[in-house]
Amino acid sequence: MSFLLSVLVPTPAHSQLSGPLSYRSAFDLPPGSLVRVPLGRRETLGVVWDRPGTEQGLASDPEKLRDIASALTGLPALTPNWRRLVAFAAAYYQRSPGEVALAALPPQLRELSEQQLQRRLKRPLARTELAQGSASEAPALSVEQQAAIDGFGRCAGTSLLFGATGSGKTEVYLHCVQELLLRDAQAQALVMVPEINLTPQLEKRFVERFGPVFGAQSVVAMHSGMGHPQRLRNWLAAHSGVARIVLGTRMAVFASLPHLQLIVVDEEHDPSYKQQEGARYSARDLAVYRGRLENARVMLGSATPSLESWHHSRSAEQGGRYARLGMPSRIGTHAQLPQVRKVDMNQQPKRAVISPPLLAAIRQRIAAGEQSLVFLNRRGYAPVLQCGSCDWKSSCPHCSAFRVFHKADRSLRCHHCGYAEAVPRACPQCGDLDLATVGRGTERLQEHLAELLAEVRRPHSVSPARPEGDPVRIARIDADSTRLSGSLQLQLAQVHSGEVDVLVGTQMIAKGHDFRRITLVAAINPDGALFSSDFRAPERLFSLLMQAAGRAGRDADISGQSEMWIQTFQPQHPLFEALKRHDYPAFAAQQLGERERAGLPPFSFQALLRAEARQQNVAQGFLAAASAAAGEQLTQLPGFDLVMLYPAVPMEMQRVANVERAQMLIESSSRTALQGFLAAWHPVLQSTRRGAAGRGLLRWAVDVDPLAI
Ligand code: ADP
Ligand code: ZN
Ligand code: ZN
Repeated sequence: MSFLLSVLVPTPAHSQLSGPLSYRSAFDLPPGSLVRVPLGRRETLGVVWDRPGTEQGLASDPEKLRDIASALTGLPALTPNWRRLVAFAAAYYQRSPGEVALAALPPQLRELSEQQLQRRLKRPLARTELAQGSASEAPALSVEQQAAIDGFGRCAGTSLLFGATGSGKTEVYLHCVQELLLRDAQAQALVMVPEINLTPQLEKRFVERFGPVFGAQSVVAMHSGMGHPQRLRNWLAAHSGVARIVLGTRMAVFASLPHLQLIVVDEEHDPSYKQQEGARYSARDLAVYRGRLENARVMLGSATPSLESWHHSRSAEQGGRYARLGMPSRIGTHAQLPQVRKVDMNQQPKRAVISPPLLAAIRQRIAAGEQSLVFLNRRGYAPVLQCGSCDWKSSCPHCSAFRVFHKADRSLRCHHCGYAEAVPRACPQCGDLDLATVGRGTERLQEHLAELLAEVRRPHSVSPARPEGDPVRIARIDADSTRLSGSLQLQLAQVHSGEVDVLVGTQMIAKGHDFRRITLVAAINPDGALFSSDFRAPERLFSLLMQAAGRAGRDADISGQSEMWIQTFQPQHPLFEALKRHDYPAFAAQQLGERERAGLPPFSFQALLRAEARQQNVAQGFLAAASAAAGEQLTQLPGFDLVMLYPAVPMEMQRVANVERAQMLIESSSRTALQGFLAAWHPVLQSTRRGAAGRGLLRWAVDVDPLAI
């Protein structure tokens, strides 16, 4: 006797075979079982999906039915909720379930034999001895922390922990996790952070707290920076229930956690929760969905919540769905948020990069033995190199962007396609030697600060050899300075140990780090985002500046004098006014008002159809044809009149690596109508792709709830 199984395999997103395939098996396997099956001439990993039955997709021709190659019977089946999560994510983000499911499983599952897996599975299980030492003491909770925890305990579903930077949100997460794990001997928790860089820090804190209590295997990490064997081991630990806590980046939202009861999303506003290729899911949104599905509680935490989450956490009378838990104060009796000082750059010497008052303030901090952080969101030396006599600029030949001048290795590098060349000695167009840099990146800022502070000496390092003191140390942390693995941790350690006086960096240093000695943070040139065409730019700027400000004065003893400096040509701008008062609610109210009047998210729902081709007109042609086909074929669809299709336009970064990019916005006041439309449109898009309008097209993709428009 043989059984019919429907099996999900890694099918490409847009292929016709996007549902499960049928296979024959000598024995019955429950849904969620992992199997190896032949697919074409390869063998691939698959997941047994639904109960076989009469569903479509099951082969009608028994002759063509193939046998499964093997079953990974040593592994427990993936839970129904895990499969529902995958099915939902695939449907919502318009991808095939096979692609989403297989991408969520560790790559080594595909390669190892049943025996090898068995051995791996035993390894972590055999090592549940307690970690050395005693658990790190939990501090006594502050009144606000206790109130937030009590509030969280009272409400089921999703809560938004709206806590100032340094208010002790992490301690609240630790407490809630601990409470759960002590109450229920099986329960598991998922804690997500936006950046890989922040996981080691958090992992250390969790391991120190919980390792001795729940075992060395109780905390595992999950992020894309891990090697395959490690990722498999951690996945198995979570899947088998040995790991009680999974810490990870956005991919961890798909971790197999059979006893999941709590999900924490730290810095929930962070754009890196949105996957930007393949299935473009929002891990934050999926976490909320997964919480409902698994009846697990969800805590979203931020000092500057996304406007979506803020909107959802308005009062229940106003229709809010999340509980809002506020922690406005910093930990420590004297701890205050830094004072915000605006410098009106219209009043400063022309071309000043660091205004005289800011420079004086930095000097004072150095004299006091304190650290300053100078923030500029642009790496490299100068964004453009330009010829003084003709109109030559360092454009990238492959992209609609300039190549950035990097002085350290004297190269011109495109930050979009990676194309790099040595800096030319003379203008490639007219031969003139007068090549000048335009604008300023972190590399140049570091150099400039070194000149400005050349005479200054660090007071606290007076050694007999150099009675006059040591020169000021200026460090830089950005994607260039941290290219080598481990270098970021090393550089951060130097900041923590006080070896650095001034730290220059991009947004990489604005987020999350618990710097104890920084008392001054300065944003050199934040104005750009005020005039961006992207309606989310002000939201991102505000949260970035609040985050950056949050790096200052984290040590309660010195926080009283900490400052956040903003150099701006728009000192009256409401965004900076709200920042000055640390008033996120006022900023959010103003932004939400604007969005409501303009019918933008969260008051409407959006998707983008993107197309790429060698020629712009081909990319736009495909979009236009897809739009026209919708107008012809889908008018009878319920809710179609609620869906608005905008004209196709070139993307802001129109060309990258010689590929032309275009997009089309689809908008609706109803999420259901938009979802219904996208589902019905999918086959239309596929046939448009196969038709004349698809000729020359390289790729197309749908981005649901896009972050950048
Ligand atoms: P946030 O995540 O809100 O920015 P953290 O959780 O990093 O804040 O806490 C800021 C600092 O305060 C950390 O060094 C943390 O160890 C400390 N801290 C948190 N809660 C307490 C508490 N109840 N008592 C003493 N120190 C605390
Ligand atoms: Zn020239
Ligand atoms: Zn390029």
